[in-house]
Amino acid sequence: MTPLLRLPRVLRHAEPPARRETYRAFLATVVAVEDLTPRMRRVTLRAPQLADYRRVRADDFFALLIPGDGGIEIPGDEITAETPRGVAELIPEAQRPTLRWYTIRAHRPSSAEIDVDIVLHGSGLASGPGSTWATHARPGDAVGIAEGNGVYNPVPDAERQLFFADITALPALISILESADPAPGRPRPGTGSIAHIEVPSEEDVTEIATDVDVRWHVRGTERTGFSVPRILDGVDVDGISYAWLCAEADMVKRARRLVSGPGGVSKSAITFSGYWRHGQARS
Ligand SMILES: Cc1cc2nc3c(=O)[nH]c(=O)nc-3n(C[C@H](O)[C@H](O)[C@H](O)COP(=O)(O)OP(=O)(O)OC[C@H]3O[C@@H](n4cnc5c(N)ncnc54)[C@H](O)[C@@H]3O)c2cc1C
Repeated sequence: MTPLLRLPRVLRHAEPPARRETYRAFLATVVAVEDLTPRMRRVTLRAPQLADYRRVRADDFFALLIPGDGGIEIPGDEITAETPRGVAELIPEAQRPTLRWYTIRAHRPSSAEIDVDIVLHGSGLASGPGSTWATHARPGDAVGIAEGNGVYNPVPDAERQLFFADITALPALISILESADPAPGRPRPGTGSIAHIEVPSEEDVTEIATDVDVRWHVRGTERTGFSVPRILDGVDVDGISYAWLCAEADMVKRARRLVSGPGGVSKSAITFSGYWRHGQARS
């Protein structure tokens, strides 16, 4: 049986962050839809379980359980298991939704809501179930949520931190940079920290409330990943003690090679994840 809930493969990070002891999957309702930019749609989801959702990290992700033609059902409205895979196995195959990973951009326990910022990346073959679902999402729609974790995990005493994101990792990066305590018990990005963000167009550039030096790389007609060679321009990599690299898989691979090169950041102090991969579904 294909596991429905496989945690996204975070290829490696400094050390495993705190994880949940149990994972819940439950039903949620779309309560609002807002276009932040022509390419980024914010969907607000509400579910009773979101009132006591416990955030692990500022970049917590979850599995959006996208209903099939017959809608979505979760036995007993909520299921719990010790692993996401275990949660999946409790959903009968006939009702099994399609899964895609997204970041919790904001969590409001008082109204039991989360905001999810979803990239609308095309139509037809260029789209996928996640992007298509967001394109058509309307208040009142039912969807499922399965809890995941977060990966931002700076090593102790990491003052200068380096971030690299594309538009899919922008919600996670903003959450980290704007959070007062992005990884409890670990340092916030300190003086000299830098964030590089590659986006398709000027319209995708957004205000971020942070002291971190944010450098936008607008792609325009350049190829995806054009900014990778620039992320160390003018940076004393020697002084960087932690790096968080999340974007398209090939971009991340190249960025990691660069950042961990001679005199660079120790591989054990780099968190990296391919958020999507050209030409492949990311389930
Ligand atoms: C931990 C984690 C957190 C994530 N958080 C977010 C988030 O908050 N917001 C967000 O939008 N995405 C996020 N992503 C990325 C998202 O899961 C992928 O983009 C996913 O592929 C989207 O699913 P889909 O069904 O739209 O496309 P898929 O069915 O997975 O892919 C279909 C086709 O679309 C292409 N494709 C997928 N994504 C893109 C893209 N962004 N641009 C161009 N082509 C694409 C694929 O290469 C493939 O050819 C996250 C991923 C991970 C692992």
